[in-house]
Amino acid sequence: MARTVLVTGGNRGIGLAIARAFAAQGDRVAVTHRSGAAPEGLFGVRCDVTDNDSVDAAFGAVEAELGPVEILVANAGVTDDTLLMRMSEEQFSGVLDTNLTGAWRCARRASAKMVRGRWGRMIFISSVIAMYGQAGQVNYAASKAGLVGMARSISRELGGRNITANVVAPGFVETDMTAGLAEERKAEYRKVIPAGRFAAADEVAGVVAWLGSDAAAYVTGAIVPVDGGLGMGH
Ligand code: NDP
Repeated sequence: MARTVLVTGGNRGIGLAIARAFAAQGDRVAVTHRSGAAPEGLFGVRCDVTDNDSVDAAFGAVEAELGPVEILVANAGVTDDTLLMRMSEEQFSGVLDTNLTGAWRCARRASAKMVRGRWGRMIFISSVIAMYGQAGQVNYAASKAGLVGMARSISRELGGRNITANVVAPGFVETDMTAGLAEERKAEYRKVIPAGRFAAADEVAGVVAWLGSDAAAYVTGAIVPVDGGLGMGH
């Protein structure tokens, strides 16, 4: 059955791969983008997840074009790395505002229509770093770990309404976000990843599409790792 899907930050990277995976299986897919044009073949809405009015307007536009959002993929995310001692409050709260509060704004906006429709899937894109930790990423790790508590609380609040909330925790994925890493750094990471390589965005997208499917109806409050084994034991 075709569903209406909204992927935040779906104009590039992992988000775009997720959007394309849902579109390939026949779903009605919308993506948010902040600037530029929407990706070809996908319905795009402008949205900055740090701004509640912008989130509300984006959902309104998707509802008008494609119907109520049944599958929300909260994927928009940023990094702003530096060591704890050097991290400003703006650097900390800025990353939290996009990665955690932004996801919450979208989940809250989506929830009423999901409850009314008695069906919903919320999928939060976290990171292996949420549980593993990473020097220089205190803000990022805190934001991504926060998604776990949020998804599990939503599972408890809305589970009885046929709504699931899950977290996908990718390891290192080849996108713009990791493109800036020095080659030596990448080689060091590869050594500790059992799979011995970074992931392609499509490998994350397949898992997200599955979580949105009827086959995953009894999976909720889960952290699904897609990390080549890096975080085993979380
Ligand atoms: P990219 O940097 O390639 O893309 C990030 C996306 O988020 C862009 O579409 C960007 O929009 C959007 N975005 C950022 N801030 C906002 C905002 N305030 N409002 C709306 N959209 C925003 O990242 P990836 O594709 O690599 O990452 C996607 C998600 O996966 C992120 O949450 C990231 O933390 C997570 N992740 C990534 C990993 C990796 O190795 N790449 C590993 C683990 C998790 P715009 O184009 O307008 O800037």
